[in-house]
Amino acid sequence: MRQSGSGRTAKLSPLSEMPNKLPTMRYCYHCATYHPESEMRLVPSKSIPRWRCIKSIEAAKKSQAKRDAFGREVSAQNSRAAASKIAAANSDRRS
Ligand SMILES: [Zn+2]
Repeated sequence: MRQSGSGRTAKLSPLSEMPNKLPTMRYCYHCATYHPESEMRLVPSKSIPRWRCIKSIEAAKKSQAKRDAFGREVSAQNSRAAASKIAAANSDRRS
């Protein structure tokens, strides 16, 4: 049996009436400051997991990628230089 009409509806407060709750702040060991928990990630460390902000994690990832790209570029240059040196040595020997 269903009640028709104005039955009892659970009083759910709309979003505008939501209490303005402050976000939980977490201490970021990377920045040595506090960030809202929503911007934080729990990262495993040697002993206990620690909170670190996503921003610093992303920045570290980016700089790591940059370093990798730089390393690849340098080794490519080195092998090119080595190849040209060998070519030069060969042509010297021939002439
Ligand atoms: Zn941080």
